[in-house]
Amino acid sequence: MPSKKGGTGGNKQVQNHINSLNVQQGQTAVAVVRGTMAMSHSPRTKASAGTQADLKKQSNFSITSLILEGVKLNKLQLNDIIKHHLKDLRISDIQLSRSGIFTIYAINVNSFNRLLNELTPILATNGQATAKIHVPRSIRRIKDMEKVAFVKNIDIEIPESRITEALKDVDLDAIDVVRLTNKVKNIPTKIIKIIFIDPQNRNTLVHTGLQVDSMHFLAEPSMQNTKPVQCYICLQYNHVAKYCKTKQQICAQCGENHRIDQCIAASDALKCSNSKGNHLATSNECATFKEQEKRIQNLIY
Ligand SMILES: [Zn+2]
Ligand SMILES: [Zn+2]
Ligand SMILES: [Zn+2]
Repeated sequence: MPSKKGGTGGNKQVQNHINSLNVQQGQTAVAVVRGTMAMSHSPRTKASAGTQADLKKQSNFSITSLILEGVKLNKLQLNDIIKHHLKDLRISDIQLSRSGIFTIYAINVNSFNRLLNELTPILATNGQATAKIHVPRSIRRIKDMEKVAFVKNIDIEIPESRITEALKDVDLDAIDVVRLTNKVKNIPTKIIKIIFIDPQNRNTLVHTGLQVDSMHFLAEPSMQNTKPVQCYICLQYNHVAKYCKTKQQICAQCGENHRIDQCIAASDALKCSNSKGNHLATSNECATFKEQEKRIQNLIY
């Protein structure tokens, strides 16, 4: 059975680490693998259970973590409950934070899924009715982004309702359609954010684009640029060197007209050409950089 990829395009760094794996009961599984993430949403059929391919796939995933909250147990007690009631699960470690929250590391996806589905009912019968188990937030956030598409250059006069209709017409299941506003100027932008029910629906739109009657718009899996763009010639923001109007080389170290490798200013005599602050003009700590960063974020959220 072929398993589906969690998305196309999008956040490349994350995408590169996303692999497919088979999962029981069709539940979305997430595996943290040496600090990277893997996700799947393909249902596992009985026929494929325990095949060599499965075993091979599972061995690629050393750790899958889950958060357990709302239990009044110590580590050994939790260990023993799992030991007695979920004998065949493979768990590499249990961590208990000072605030009483457990992180449980399963060795394979099967163990991960069984923990997710079976542990809280077992805990409930052992006097831990308030137990809640969930996937770590950092992973959930990435999973959520897999369902989001941005459509740019949507003319201001087109209401969100027309876009919702257009999506329905092609059987795409959107949960939310919202035009982003520029929060600084408090005006609507030409960007529409669409949250879909799952990554498949999102990917379909990214592939086909958005057709609203006779108008067509391109869709992207995520905002392409969330970092300010800085010209390496003049060190100003929002254009690249190719489109630099001044073509006047500015030194990132002292702000004079020469390349940084020709700078003779003392290394502690930094002067940013943008903010006049005592740092490199390329520093992420620069107030001008932070201003630009904020401007972009205001556009997105
Ligand atoms: Zn420039
Ligand atoms: Zn210089
Ligand atoms: Zn600065």
